[in-house]
Amino acid sequence: MKRSFMPTIKSKEELDAIQLSGLKWTVNHAYRGSAFYRERFNDAGIKPDDIKSLDDLKRLPFVTAEDLQDNYPWPLISVPFEKIVRMHASSGTTGKRKVMVYTAKDVDDWADMFARCYEMAGLTKEDRVQICVGYGVWTAGAGFQLGCERFGAFAIPAGPGNIDMQLQFLVDFQTTVICSTASMALLLAEEVDRRGLKNKINVKKVIFGAERSSDAITRKIKNLLGAEHAFDIPGLTELYGPGTGLDCIHHTGIHYWADYYIMELLDPETLEPVPEGEVGEMVYTTLRKEGTPLIRYRSRDLTRSIPGRCQCGSFLPRHDKILGRSDDMFIIRGVNIYPSHIDEILSRQAEISSEYQIYLNRGDDGKDYMTITVEREKKNDPKGDETLAMKIERDIRKEMLVSGKVDIVDYQSLPRTAKKTRRLFDNRD
Ligand code: ZN
Repeated sequence: MKRSFMPTIKSKEELDAIQLSGLKWTVNHAYRGSAFYRERFNDAGIKPDDIKSLDDLKRLPFVTAEDLQDNYPWPLISVPFEKIVRMHASSGTTGKRKVMVYTAKDVDDWADMFARCYEMAGLTKEDRVQICVGYGVWTAGAGFQLGCERFGAFAIPAGPGNIDMQLQFLVDFQTTVICSTASMALLLAEEVDRRGLKNKINVKKVIFGAERSSDAITRKIKNLLGAEHAFDIPGLTELYGPGTGLDCIHHTGIHYWADYYIMELLDPETLEPVPEGEVGEMVYTTLRKEGTPLIRYRSRDLTRSIPGRCQCGSFLPRHDKILGRSDDMFIIRGVNIYPSHIDEILSRQAEISSEYQIYLNRGDDGKDYMTITVEREKKNDPKGDETLAMKIERDIRKEMLVSGKVDIVDYQSLPRTAKKTRRLFDNRD
């Protein structure tokens, strides 16, 4: 019989019971195993036995990225070293890397969670999965590979970059699923188009990880590759890595594995829950993680919950795409702006390509100015640039309540990268 990785949860009561027993276990485990957590709980005057209901979660203190960095190299470790079988770390662009350790059971749980992603995306064991993400100390390559093997599909561990090799694999191995960043998938899709390979490849699905993908990029990649579906996979090193949720084939939001972790959505300023459907910071508490359990870990990632049940029938709750990071938010002329909102507005414009850059400058008059550079769509005439720029400027002013200048440049004149693409350049002091 075909093995399913989906939970059998049929009611909210059942899910609550799983979460409460996981929460009790986690708090006990962390209190006994980690000097860091024990001290935090003692400071807050909390003993593990005080956790009697899910509501007691809010009595527990928060853990931040700074806590992980301050306790480098082994923050939150809650088991003796003899039980650790693996480590992973974030790429650590600023400050020290966040290092997480895994027991054999953690790796096993992660494999099951990730296999569930492939099942959610409707893969079968016949699928050939080209994994074009980094293999190394970070969680991407290891996670996609682990999940693919647990699920039983065929893994092609291509790694990132090396476009010529990737294209050759797509043609020769008849890859059916690509896993990559959205930037890498765009790079591949545009190259497939340029070399006229669309009819020689067999890509049905694309799974994006590691960076926010706009609707415009998703549409474009699907079109150029001839793929039927594009899925969004969230991935946070602190929370195992990628594989902790995925949108289903109805694409109505990301189902997340609430039987493995609790996700609170809190106002980053007040740290109180946001009303349902409003944007909040994703705060994680794991329910089974042994090596480095998370208890109210503030991720800085922002999203909103999606109310109601999905038409796929799954009882797993949903959240929207990651809408940005609370650190990414910028303020211009007193208005809070999330880059994802600009994404959204640009994604609706048919006459431009999917790439853009946002520049923030301070003028001689001391005021802040925003310029957005966008690419004209391939087939369009530069004569229409002025009208188009004015239309986009109008949309931005109307929806974001702040004005910005729009510059239109030639198709493919903005940089493409196989890694995460930088799109915001804040040149103010
Ligand atoms: Zn669904």
